[in-house]
Amino acid sequence: MAQAVMTIGGKREHATTTFGVINPATGVVFAEAPDCSQSALDDAVDAADRAFRSWRLNEDARREGLRRAAQAVSAAQAELAALITAEQCKPLAAAAYEVEMAALWLTNASTLVLPREVLQDDAMAYAEVTRRPLGVVAAITPWNYPLLLAAWKIGPALLAGNTLVLKPSPFTPLSSLLLGEILAAHLPPGVVNVVSGGDDVGVWLTHHPAVRKISFTGSVATGKAIASAAAPDLKRITLELGGNDAAIVLDDADPATIARDLFWGAFINCGQICAGVKRVYAPESLYDEVVAALAERARKVRVGPGTQPNVQMGPINNRPQFERVTELVDDALAQGATAVAGGKPMGGAGYFYAPTILTNVRDGMRIVDEEQFGPALPILPYRELDDAVARANATHFGLCGSVWSSNVARATEVCAQLECGTTYINAHLAIVPHLPFGGVKWSGIGVENGQWGLDEYTSLRTLYRAKG
Ligand code: NAD
Repeated sequence: MAQAVMTIGGKREHATTTFGVINPATGVVFAEAPDCSQSALDDAVDAADRAFRSWRLNEDARREGLRRAAQAVSAAQAELAALITAEQCKPLAAAAYEVEMAALWLTNASTLVLPREVLQDDAMAYAEVTRRPLGVVAAITPWNYPLLLAAWKIGPALLAGNTLVLKPSPFTPLSSLLLGEILAAHLPPGVVNVVSGGDDVGVWLTHHPAVRKISFTGSVATGKAIASAAAPDLKRITLELGGNDAAIVLDDADPATIARDLFWGAFINCGQICAGVKRVYAPESLYDEVVAALAERARKVRVGPGTQPNVQMGPINNRPQFERVTELVDDALAQGATAVAGGKPMGGAGYFYAPTILTNVRDGMRIVDEEQFGPALPILPYRELDDAVARANATHFGLCGSVWSSNVARATEVCAQLECGTTYINAHLAIVPHLPFGGVKWSGIGVENGQWGLDEYTSLRTLYRAKG
């Protein structure tokens, strides 16, 4: 059985104990990953701390290092994609795309600017601000996009002059561990360290005194635990947490035209995406048509192991998540919801769940109020648009929201009323490296991507020189 290694201080490191990584298509362990000890974690943070002293000094070298890293990730696309599909179980083509996007994000980070801004230059004084790195960054990632979300953190953290310790989810450690080995060949020792293990490794990392910044993507509950861990030491945090994104269809939309993008806005990656459509509000006048168009698509999706050719959707990634989606759908059905497509697990080995469209649902049901993070979508009717907007906003979450309409001016007005970090018109999930991405309320603190994401890995340093 394959056994992956950690990367600590530029070296390949085994651990004395390992844990099994499960293939979601079979429910069976197919590889072992190192279970990082606390002393190995300390070694990783020490290595990052030592590397920081020189890494922070040469911006050109950092840009060049990131460019080489991006090329190396692209060159390893087949190997990385195979690992992502093995551990996450998304279709192989989607895994290859994730690798391509990870390389794109690293390349994009290599082009970001660390501006020197002159704020005053007159008879009295000269004053400027520059951006300085923070030190060792703890990067902690979830299991839905293991490689891409790691790249989102590695790129800007390194360009700003920080060094980093990455801890992937125990459900999907392998692609990140290979990424560590790939990067180690192109970056100075200790600049990027990758460790694997359970949640306890994340706890040690977030409490480590040498860590100055925590960049976390994952659940709200863990985000709150990390905010608490950061508080006593006043570590900086960026938290990208869950979402319960609403899509509001306006009465001038054409259901047939919007169905494809609306459907995949919810079901891409088997619905396991923070910024996916989690509930649809459709006007009574179009409700049946919207339901029919989405249900038809749901019934036709080709579901299977990610390794199988032509598959469009894999299984749910892990047993706890599979049980959670099953529980939320069962709860809705018990309260009178109707599954017009799917509605249950597909049976057999693995965590396959039939793409599900639910009607006869209402706000207050768990499938509507909570983040399902899986292939089940409730569709709710509305009479008054103001009411739909109020219901869309009546949540602790605030990641993204979308409005679907043939009237851009009207859709723009509705977008302005949505309480979330990103609003879309006739789209959902258009996430690109040059636009800021982040949530409000319980969906997070801070943003990733673009110049704004880079700023989060820096502190401002003001220089004031008196004249005359
Ligand atoms: P999770 O919070 O359970 O785990 C995420 C990571 O945190 C894992 O690496 C885990 O080992 C680690 N961890 C767990 N407890 C910890 C602790 N106390 N201290 C430090 N680290 C700890 O999340 P998950 O189940 O892997 O991912 C699913 C969640 O992630 C969903 O809620 C989803 O919405 C969210 N998500 C958000 C975004 C975003 O950008 N906003 C993107 C993807 C996923």
